[in-house]
Amino acid sequence: MQTLKNYINGELLEPVSKQYLDNYDPSRGKVYSLIPNSDERDVELAVKAAHEAFPAWSVTPKDVRSQYLLKIASLIEQNLDKLARAESLDNGKPLHLAKTVDIPRAAANFHFYGTGILHYAAHAHSMEDTAINYTLRQPVGVAGCISPWNLPLYLFSWKIAPALAAGCTVVAKPSEVTPMTAYLLSEICIEAGLPKGVLNIVHGLGPKVGNAIVSNTKVPVISFTGGTKTGAHIASIAAPMFKKMSLELGGKNPNIIFADCDYQKMLSTTMLSSFANQGQICLCGSRIFVERSIYDTFKADFVEKTKKLVIGAPLDDKTKIGAVVSESHMEKILSYVELAKQEGGIVLCGGKRAKVDGEFANGYYIEPTIIEGLPYSCRTNQEEIFGPVVTITPFDTEEEVMTYANSTIYGLASTVWTQDITKANRVAMNLHTGIVWVNCWLLRDLRTPFGGVKSSGVGREGGFEALDFFTEPKNVCVKLK
Ligand code: NAD
Repeated sequence: MQTLKNYINGELLEPVSKQYLDNYDPSRGKVYSLIPNSDERDVELAVKAAHEAFPAWSVTPKDVRSQYLLKIASLIEQNLDKLARAESLDNGKPLHLAKTVDIPRAAANFHFYGTGILHYAAHAHSMEDTAINYTLRQPVGVAGCISPWNLPLYLFSWKIAPALAAGCTVVAKPSEVTPMTAYLLSEICIEAGLPKGVLNIVHGLGPKVGNAIVSNTKVPVISFTGGTKTGAHIASIAAPMFKKMSLELGGKNPNIIFADCDYQKMLSTTMLSSFANQGQICLCGSRIFVERSIYDTFKADFVEKTKKLVIGAPLDDKTKIGAVVSESHMEKILSYVELAKQEGGIVLCGGKRAKVDGEFANGYYIEPTIIEGLPYSCRTNQEEIFGPVVTITPFDTEEEVMTYANSTIYGLASTVWTQDITKANRVAMNLHTGIVWVNCWLLRDLRTPFGGVKSSGVGREGGFEALDFFTEPKNVCVKLK
């Protein structure tokens, strides 16, 4: 059984406690590796290394930092198959998804910021012949980066790459549920010759390792992606210490389908926005609102297609629905199906744990589930389920659907389907979300601001926004006479 190690000061180290946690293969429901059960002592070592590496890294020329990032990107590409298999095994997601989305995107993140930093510029403000102001953008210091399990390497690298590009050094913690590709990344960083201490990866539990990173006085900037409750807890520690914070949190995204949409495009994309990665993407549209005149047709087609989705072993090419990430997450999702029934919902398809034969019989599989007949305000339609479970609800007017769409505490992303350009723009304008997709879903340009409003988070990732976040602006005013 493989035993993972922390990556601290350029070396792969055992945790100080010498204790380990079980790491599960969710497709089989069994332990397949061990990860360091680190604590504040490991975090202290990592922060010390990052703190000592910061002065040199922060003044390392941009083009040299860029070369390191591009080298890491290229090593990720060279190891695509190995990393994709590892991601699929660790998370339960179909291998083809890891191969076409997760790992290519992790490489793209390093590539994007490896080149983006070369184009990053600061402002100057002239006061005619009196003075000139120029604004320096200086790296903040040691960045704490904490990420979740649903898109493990994809989201881990989405934080680490801009932090390193900006000149910060990093102490990072991947989810303890999916640590494997973060460990493989540490091997890649060693191969790339990244200077010691520039990136440190500490494995372990959130309340121990994550908490120790967030509360460490030598870590002035925290980038977190995960659940809203965890985000609130992190903010309660970091805010009184006046740390810079970026919080990318939960969602309950609306998918609004008007009768005048391009029906076939909408239907095939809605299959993905509902069930890709077993519905465990923060951007999935879990509340589907359909204009009444096409509701029955949509319902019939959507249910028919969903019943045909192949549930199975992640490594099998035919599999569309793999395992959800853990037993406890599976139980949580199934408890929401029960809640939906209690609230009067009708399960049109799915709703149960799915059985996959042979060695996968103990895996955590859930049938893709469609529920109708629920009011927009009930708990099932208000709380994040984060699994292959969607509700469908008819609407009559634009005004009505806007009320439904904007009714939750969340505001991450939304999708709108219509061929009426004026309506599309008006609806996009009025949706309370950080991201709106019109006639598409998960189409990503890495230059654009990414993040949510309300309880979906604070701040934006992506493009120059992330470089702004990992740098501190300093204005220098020079009198000319
Ligand atoms: P989580 O909040 O349980 O854990 C996220 C990370 O935080 C993990 O690494 C965990 O170990 C760590 N953590 C837990 N407790 C901590 C603490 N007290 N202090 C510091 N760190 C702590 O979330 P999860 O279950 O891993 O991920 C699912 C959630 O992430 C969903 O709510 C989903 O919507 C959200 N998510 C959001 C985005 C986005 O971009 N907005 C993207 C992906 C996932």
